[in-house]
This record gives sequence, structure tokens and C-alpha cells, in this order.
Amino acid sequence: DEILRPDADDTELAFEGALRPQSLGEFVGQQKVRRQLQLLLEAATLQNRAPDHILLAGPPGLGKTTLAMIVAHEGRRPLRMTSGPAIQHAGDLAAVLSSLTPGEVLFIDEIHRMARSAEEMLYLAMEDFRVDIMVGKGAGATSIPLELAPFTLVGATTRSGLLPNPLRDRFGFTAHLEFYEPGELFRVIERAATLLRLDVDGDALHEISGRSRGTPRIANRLLRRVRDYALVHGGRADRTAVRAALELYDVDEQGLDRLDRAVLHVIVDRFAGGPVGLSTLAVSVGEEAETIEAVVEPFLVRSGLLARTPRGRVATAEAWRHLGREPGAAAGH
Ligand code: ATP
Repeated sequence: DEILRPDADDTELAFEGALRPQSLGEFVGQQKVRRQLQLLLEAATLQNRAPDHILLAGPPGLGKTTLAMIVAHEGRRPLRMTSGPAIQHAGDLAAVLSSLTPGEVLFIDEIHRMARSAEEMLYLAMEDFRVDIMVGKGAGATSIPLELAPFTLVGATTRSGLLPNPLRDRFGFTAHLEFYEPGELFRVIERAATLLRLDVDGDALHEISGRSRGTPRIANRLLRRVRDYALVHGGRADRTAVRAALELYDVDEQGLDRLDRAVLHVIVDRFAGGPVGLSTLAVSVGEEAETIEAVVEPFLVRSGLLARTPRGRVATAEAWRHLGREPGAAAGH
């Protein structure tokens, strides 16, 4: 029910598919990453080889899957998609790797959640395009080397810090995706509105861009809710419709949602502004620590509302003011 959560659900996937940019040229923002990728892809094309392995790191919804698709599309290469949680044994990975065709792009989403045994198999596969398959048990066990077709691994992670160094080191390039500026999000939803033939005015697009947590997936989602609102109320999708729709979904002027505000409230009201440890914070708001760390915190830190210190999370003076409180004032005063 959280409209601002950057994770996609199933009903959203078809909608997203229609809006996904197909080329680096259509991909809005992330200029540095785009130029880095462009160079890497062009060099591979000139040398007629598979591009180096690429790691995409950053919070959910910033375009990692989209970029993986673009890497395949720009190089006219087939794409295989899987995810860390789907690879629970080395055998799962061996099955995928051994069925790749030459030059294929293998996308592993949430690569930090892959089984450890598979990770080790991946080192060799990335480096030498080879895996060692263990057959038999005990004294009779032997390993049979299996040659693989050259491939390009594109790994995506929201938690690059969780990747073991040997794995991280085997990527030729790591792209760190940043939150988008409102002007960039404006272009993302302007493009979406055109593709979907939505009649939304510029003021509305502007208002939505400012409230989308720097995240294209959220901007596209808010655009849909505003379209719904205009449809049901028979009016135009203008700034008034945006304000009314977003108020209904608990999205405030800075784009914070209920969970973001709950986190700030806990730090300010229950812990006098902090510091508070991550696990205490997670329990207090009834969320997984991983969600708080990967989804809520990066945005709050970037908005200048939260600071991470060695002793825990601290609410900034701006956070107090955002909640309508004087910095440092005791609750209820
Ligand atoms: P997750 O890790 O949760 O899968 P993600 O980072 O892979 O998220 P995507 O699925 O690639 O995010 O992007 C989400 C949606 O946002 C897509 O539908 C895509 O259309 C849109 N989008 C993302 N980045 C851009 C961009 N730079 N320009 C235009 N649209 C974008």
C-alpha cells in the first residue's frame, strides 16, 4: 500500500515495460554513467568482443534493470535475466551459465543475495569463462571443468557494501546510480505522459517531479495516481489534482511518505533526535532493517534530514523543522 516504495509489484511491470527507454540516448539523467557505459560498449563493439562485466549499484527504482536491457539492446545481444534469490545453490548458477549463447548478457538482480557457493563459482566464470562442476561425493569426488561461451555479466545491487571484494573486483566497471534531480524526473514523466497519451499540464509534472524521492519509478507511479484522480473527478490533471491526489496517498511536499516520517518521528520523539541504532529503529517502525537501510535512509540522508554517525542515526535540525518542531525541544512542547 506504500505508494512511495520504490519496489515494483507485478501489476506495475507491464506498465513499466511500455515506458522503458531502449537506448542510452533515451535514458534520462545519470549523465556520467551513460558516458562511461557508452565508452565501454563502443570499445567492445570495435574489438568485436563481449563488453566487460558491469556492476550497477544504487537504491531501487533508479534504472538498473533498464540499463541492463539497454546494454543488451545497444550491442544487439540476447539478454538472460535472473536474480540473486533465485540462485540458492551453485548448481542453479551452473545451469544458467552453461546455457548462455556466445556474447549473451546475463543480468543478475540483487546479486548480493546469491548463495555463497554460487558466488565462488561465479568468480571463475567471470574471469576465465569456465566452471568446475563437482561430481560424486567423498573420496571419489572429482571436478570436471566446463568451458562457457563468453558472456557479459550485469549485476545489480542496492547494497554494494555487502558484495565480497573478490566478486566486486571482477567487474570491469561499477556504475553508481544517483537519485535524479527534479528537472530530470520532469523529463522522465513528460516522456511517460506522451507515450501514454496523458493530458497533464507542465505545472502538474513539475509538482510530481518534486515529490518523487528522486526516483523515476516513483515519478511514473505518482503520474498514474494523478491520472486516476483526474479521471475520477472529471477534471484536468493539473497542479490542484496533483496536490489532492498526493495528499490522499500521504505524500508530503518534500516527497516523504508515512514510513519516512515514522522513522523521523521515532528518532525525534522517542530518542530525542538520536543517535539510534538501525535495528532499534527498524523494530520501532515495524519494518525490516534492510528496507530502512536500502530504501528509507538513502533518501532521508540525501534530503539532509538524517545523518549516519558511528553511534547511530541522528535527525538533523531540518528534520525537526520538517515535523513542525523546534530542534532539540522535548516532545509535546
Ligand atoms: P529495481 O532494482 O527495483 O528493479 P531498478 O533500479 O532496476 O529497480 P528500473 O526497473 O530499471 O529500476 O526502472 C524503473 C522504472 O523507471 C522503469 O519503468 C523505467 O521506465 C523508469 N526509468 C528508470 N530510469 C529511467 C531513466 N533514466 N529514464 C527514463 N525512465 C526511467
